[in-house]
Amino acid sequence: MGGVYRQRHPEKTVLYRVLFHYFERFVSEYEPRFEKEYGYFRPVVKEVVEKYLDCANPKNGFARVKCSNKKCGAEFLLTLSCKTRGFCPSCHTRRLEEWGEWVREEVYLDAGHRQVVFTIPKMLRIFLKYKRKLLGDLCRCAVRALLHYFHATKGKELMPGIIAVIQTYGLYASAHRGKIRKAGREGKNIRVVEEDTRKAPGKGWAQMIAKIYEVDPLTCRECGAEMRVIAFITECSVVDKIINHLKLDFTAARPPPPSLLFS
Ligand SMILES: [Zn+2]
Ligand SMILES: [Zn+2]
Repeated sequence: MGGVYRQRHPEKTVLYRVLFHYFERFVSEYEPRFEKEYGYFRPVVKEVVEKYLDCANPKNGFARVKCSNKKCGAEFLLTLSCKTRGFCPSCHTRRLEEWGEWVREEVYLDAGHRQVVFTIPKMLRIFLKYKRKLLGDLCRCAVRALLHYFHATKGKELMPGIIAVIQTYGLYASAHRGKIRKAGREGKNIRVVEEDTRKAPGKGWAQMIAKIYEVDPLTCRECGAEMRVIAFITECSVVDKIINHLKLDFTAARPPPPSLLFS
């Protein structure tokens, strides 16, 4: 195969190394050390981490991508990604871009939008720790509260457009807001970015990848013609041959010292 292999190396990142070497220990120590504060260990966490640890692993196979210009014939192999949401930095970033594009292209109306933040009273938080399905009900409660607000202020039923998002990971969480205020008092920069919600021109998958990785994976580097996925290679014997031929390696590097993670 005259093509070029383009390998991502998540196994060299700190996140990967920490999870590869310490995740099992984290799971075994979760109940006595973390359950009281963070709620039951959810099986989905293990599933997501295991998928992430396999993301871009050549052993799972490849997509074969070839230039559509017959005179050129350039091709390369891509490893398969885990496609998990909210965890794998690479896959999540792509899904976030896709979701953002979908909202801009398909959902937003040409009107002003406002952000409204609801917080959960402390006495209710314990229930959400142990019963995550309640988070969906929480969103519905917030939407109902907004509808009541519009009704009360306008004196009539209104049909607003609402996108509800739960923020438990992030800077708006109460644990972080104190740090932000402290940083503000100490004169450190806190920047608020206002998103331009005007419609962006239509973008396909390849353009979104280009936005993230600054390369267009579906444009041939040799001749500029369109690249196409022509096959998926998943048969173990063929995959092993490719791995041996290209001398591919997917080994997590040394872990950070446990003293930095477990005290
Ligand atoms: Zn992934
Ligand atoms: Zn080409």
